[in-house]
Amino acid sequence: MTSEQLFYDKKPAFDRAGAQAVSAYAEGYKAFLDRAKTERDAVKEMSARAERAGFVPYRRGQALKPGDRIYQVNRAKGITLAVIGEKSLAEGVHLTAAHLDAPRIDIRTLPLYETENMAFFKTHYYGGIKKYQWTAIPLELRGVVCVCENGEIRKVEVSIGADPSEPKLVITDLLPHLASEQMQKKMTEGIKGEGLNVLVGSRPAEDQDEKSPVKLAVMRWLNEKYGMKEADFLSAELSCVPAFNACDIGLDRSFIGGYGHDDRCCSYPAATALMELEGTPSHTCVCLLVDKEEIGSDGVTGMQSRHFDTFMGDLCRGQGVLLDECFENSVCLSADVCNAFDPNYPDVSEKRNDGRVNCGFALVKYTGSRGKSGTSEATAELMARIRNIFDQAGVAWQTGQLGKVDQGGGGTVAMFLANRNIDTVDAGVPVLSMHAPFEVISKLDLYMAFRGFGAFYRA
Ligand code: MN
Ligand code: MN
Repeated sequence: MTSEQLFYDKKPAFDRAGAQAVSAYAEGYKAFLDRAKTERDAVKEMSARAERAGFVPYRRGQALKPGDRIYQVNRAKGITLAVIGEKSLAEGVHLTAAHLDAPRIDIRTLPLYETENMAFFKTHYYGGIKKYQWTAIPLELRGVVCVCENGEIRKVEVSIGADPSEPKLVITDLLPHLASEQMQKKMTEGIKGEGLNVLVGSRPAEDQDEKSPVKLAVMRWLNEKYGMKEADFLSAELSCVPAFNACDIGLDRSFIGGYGHDDRCCSYPAATALMELEGTPSHTCVCLLVDKEEIGSDGVTGMQSRHFDTFMGDLCRGQGVLLDECFENSVCLSADVCNAFDPNYPDVSEKRNDGRVNCGFALVKYTGSRGKSGTSEATAELMARIRNIFDQAGVAWQTGQLGKVDQGGGGTVAMFLANRNIDTVDAGVPVLSMHAPFEVISKLDLYMAFRGFGAFYRA
C-alpha cells in the first residue's frame, strides 16, 4: 500500500463542501450571534426558531408519536429540543449537548457607586477570562431585572448598547504613558478582578446638597427606563458583553470573528441540524443546550442539574421505558469547542494532535489535565462508531486536543453525561483566541459541524 492509503493526513477540507453552502450557513450563524449574546437571549432565539421549524412546547404527560417535534425551556436559561424517532426509547437516543453561556463581565449584586464625579458598576467576571482583554472595548448591558413593588414582581428585560443609536459602557485601562509599573507586572496581575469597574455616567443630578449626584442621576435614569430602585439590583441578572457584532475575517472571508463562538458555534449547528432534519429519524434525537458550563456546570440550569433527567424520564414514562435503560443505550456528542492550533503560539500546542482551522469537525477523545484528570474519555468503540458515521456521510473531521501534555487543560459537559451511563464523546469546532471578547473560527469547520450533527441524528 502507498503512504496515501496508510497515513492519516490532517489537511484543509475546502474540496469537501461547496463555497456557496458554507458561506450561506455562516450568514445565519452570524445573525444568531448578534442576537444571542447571553444564554437567555440564545434560549429566546432558539425557541422562536424551533417554533418556526414545527416544534411545540412539551407538556408532561403529552402523548407523542414518531416524527413529533417538541422542546422544553429550563428557567429561561436552557432549552432541550427533541424529535421522536421510530424506535422505542429503550433503544436509546442520539443526543447532542452544548452550552449557551459564555465568558463575560457580570454586574455585582449591589453594583452602583460614585467616585470623583463618575459613576461605576462593580462587577464579578464569569468564566475563565484574561482580564486585560475586557478593558477599553465597548460593552453592552444585557439581562433581566425582577422589580419588586407593592407585593408585585415584574420582570423587565434589559438591553442597552446593541443598537448603534444606543450608548455603550466601558472598563477603562491605564494610558501607556503612566503604565510603566503596570507593564512590569505579570499579565494575571496587570488588571485585577476588583478593578473591572464599568463606567456608567458622569452627569450629576441638580439636587442641592446631594452627596452622590451622579449616582442619583444614573439611578433616576434606570428608574425611568425600567421602574427599578437600587434594591432591585439584588433580584437582577445583568451582564456586560462585547458591543460589537460578528463579522467576516480575512481578505478571503474564510473566518468569522465574534463574541461567544464558545459554544454557540456548536450549539447553533447542533440545534439547526435537528430543526432541519427531514422525516422521522430511526432513534429519537435530542439536542440539549445548557447554561453554566463556563463555571463548572453546577446549578439548576447547568449540565449537572436533574432537569435533563426529569425531561427524559417524562418521555420514557410515556413509552413505559426505564430511564436507566434509555441512557444505557444512548450515545452523545458533547458539542464544545476545542483550541485551534495557532502558528503565533506554537509552543503550547502539539502539532499532530491539536485541531486545525479548516480541517473540519474535531473529534476529541478526552479533555482534562494533568494525566487525563477530569475527563470521561470516550471508548475506542465509540470513537470508531462516530468516525464511521462522519466518513459515510462525507463529513470532514479531524482530531482535536487541548494543547501539549501538562501545558494546561480544561473540561466540557462530556463527563456529566458519561457519568449518567451515556456513551459520550466530545466533538466541536476549533477556535482561535478562545474566551477572548472576540474569538475566531473557520466557516468551513462550522459548516462541517452542522453536517456532522445531521449525520449523527440520522444514523
Ligand atoms: Mn465551551
Ligand atoms: Mn469555554
